[in-house]
Amino acid sequence: MNVRDSEHMIAELNTKESYELTQNLSEADLIIINTCSVREKPVAKLFSEIGVFNKQKKKGAKIGVAGCTASHLGEEIIKRAPTVDFVLGARNVSKITEVLDKKHAVEVSTGFDESTYAFGEYRSNPFKAMVNISIGCDKSCTFCIVPATRGEEISIPSELIVQEITKAVGTGAKEVMLLGQNVNNYGRRFSSSEESCNFTQLLQKISKIEGLERIRFTSPHPLHMDDAFLEEFASNPKICKQIHVPLQSGSSSILKAMKRGYSKEWFLNRCEKIRSLSPDTAISTDIIVGFPGESDADFEDTMDVLERVRFEQMFSFKYSPRPHTEAARFSNQIDDTIASERLTRLQKKHTEILNEVMDAQMNTIHQVYFDELKSNGRVAGRSSDGKLFFMRGSEEFLGKIVEVRVIQTSRGALEGVPL
Ligand code: SAH
Repeated sequence: MNVRDSEHMIAELNTKESYELTQNLSEADLIIINTCSVREKPVAKLFSEIGVFNKQKKKGAKIGVAGCTASHLGEEIIKRAPTVDFVLGARNVSKITEVLDKKHAVEVSTGFDESTYAFGEYRSNPFKAMVNISIGCDKSCTFCIVPATRGEEISIPSELIVQEITKAVGTGAKEVMLLGQNVNNYGRRFSSSEESCNFTQLLQKISKIEGLERIRFTSPHPLHMDDAFLEEFASNPKICKQIHVPLQSGSSSILKAMKRGYSKEWFLNRCEKIRSLSPDTAISTDIIVGFPGESDADFEDTMDVLERVRFEQMFSFKYSPRPHTEAARFSNQIDDTIASERLTRLQKKHTEILNEVMDAQMNTIHQVYFDELKSNGRVAGRSSDGKLFFMRGSEEFLGKIVEVRVIQTSRGALEGVPL
């Protein structure tokens, strides 16, 4: 989502200003730091980075802080780091050209007006397009800062989404990644009048776009994975067979304290349904360990779900108390040493699972969409189920879906040869 926000800012600057991108910091006239605030670490890193940029930047170069940390710290950023010229919240990235010349401008409102929402032309990779389908989040997960930084959830009208994807397909993209905090809650509230359209219907509309071959989306919420959605997911050949099902915790009582809206049983039932409808689907997840009140038994429930579902990809984090969240005020915070031990155990188990999953890929056949040129005479791409592939080759493979056989496996990637 942040990568797409950065693309929006670049698109706005390209349309209204005469900046060009540079890889060389000391050459830059404008430095924008696009930030995350989901966990605490990136926030601390922001201020040390500003210090580094202050030393290395050209005289007179401007520094702007954008994204979620900009949203939640606002003016405090300028107080702590007066060399910052402007602060632009996650929901305000399309206003980049408005704040550029106002010294110490702070634009962090979470209101929404479609006319200010830039569908930028800039894409960092022409072969695949990222398209926002909704912004903000209406959930109230007790650990999560996102609703406070990105505002309430608003769905973008489906014609605008179809238009945007059609444009991207016209310039070479065969794959689209639909973006939203809660993609399968799509259609709950539109910014302007729109016919009713839910996520399943949106997927059906998008799959009619000629020339578009692959649809991905992130991130869906387990609670909204109804049967109609999972049946569409499994039966629509354009939808890639990879799905993110963020667990957060395997314990029903912790899930309740997190206000996730589903239980361990519901989560397992949805994963079983996915596997029964589409056995080759790769399921990935997010897990938080050490949430306030997490007992040994709660953590065992998380381990149990990991072992039963055998997630291919797992993003796992130690719980980090965040401002504007309920859980930060809970009195039963977990000792850091215990949380670290649990994280280590979880990750070790996942590594074992991943090794087995990837080893079993030897000699299997995949349809790989190659979209990136590597420096060593190789190209990189992804299979429908999201596995990273490398193959000997050059430009001729880019933007093409190639049938390949796996000749070498590792935990992170597979090596393939064309059939
Ligand atoms: N909308 C997504 C979450 C996006 S944030 C969802 O509902 O699943 C990405 C991930 O960061 C979350 O899935 C969660 O695992 C992690 N995360 C969010 N807040 C956190 C916190 N306070 N501490 C640790 N991890 C957190």
